[in-house]
Amino acid sequence: MIIGTHMSIAKGLVKTAENVVRMEANTMQIFSRNPRGSNYKVYTKQEIEGFQRIRRDHGFGVLLAHAPYTMNLASDQERVYEFACTVLREDVARMEELEIENLVFHPGSHTGIGIEKGIENIVRGLDQAVTGKEKITVLLETMTGKGTEIGAKFEHLKMIRDAAGHPERIGICLDTCHVFAAGYDIVHDLDGVLEEFDQVLGLKLLRAIHLNDSMMPFGSHKDRHAAVGEGEIGLEALLAVMRHPLLKGLPFYLETPLDDEGHKEEIRMLKEKV
Ligand SMILES: [Zn+2]
Repeated sequence: MIIGTHMSIAKGLVKTAENVVRMEANTMQIFSRNPRGSNYKVYTKQEIEGFQRIRRDHGFGVLLAHAPYTMNLASDQERVYEFACTVLREDVARMEELEIENLVFHPGSHTGIGIEKGIENIVRGLDQAVTGKEKITVLLETMTGKGTEIGAKFEHLKMIRDAAGHPERIGICLDTCHVFAAGYDIVHDLDGVLEEFDQVLGLKLLRAIHLNDSMMPFGSHKDRHAAVGEGEIGLEALLAVMRHPLLKGLPFYLETPLDDEGHKEEIRMLKEKV
């Protein structure tokens, strides 16, 4: 089982990787840069080597970087859009250099211009960032559909991927909280949801699971993560996701509102029960 949590990298790559080991996890998700600003740290060669050593020695599974929440690649406001393009282009290259396997981003909000125009912007933004020569895969995240958010339907993600210049470098990250709030009933009909995913996108594109419970009810289009078993999805349904034969080989990343101790306990509990 590949399981980890979203980790702060405020103390650097080595300390963060050491913390993963301490939590008895074997993967992690990190922000590709400051999630609410735009700056990023330049890592020394020594730090990167230390990070790769820990990762190798402890047999980490595939790692995931998350692009900042502040970027909106669907926007038609020039400054917002240019910022999103720059972040994605730089972070694809930066995360590739760290040999991180996947970089996930929220497709974006169209803010009134409509889904189709929003998707055109996203595709153009992807095409200036992904050269096709990378090893890294850029993942589109399933979203709740709050406001004018794109990505609450599998069809949106399919439209983006199909129109991109390098679809072979684009995969999907499924967030259990987001799909539930978007109206995909993973509690009562996980098989049906996976079948639909397979028909629309193809399950081979699914590269990562954000494993979160939801504070908000089914179909609410609201994005509030809860700790596993403390939300509307519930422990049994999340265990069923982890145990599912079509999903169990995937990396699971917790983005639950807990501290390191809480996450360590959550991981221990899940490993025991799955
Ligand atoms: Zn996300």
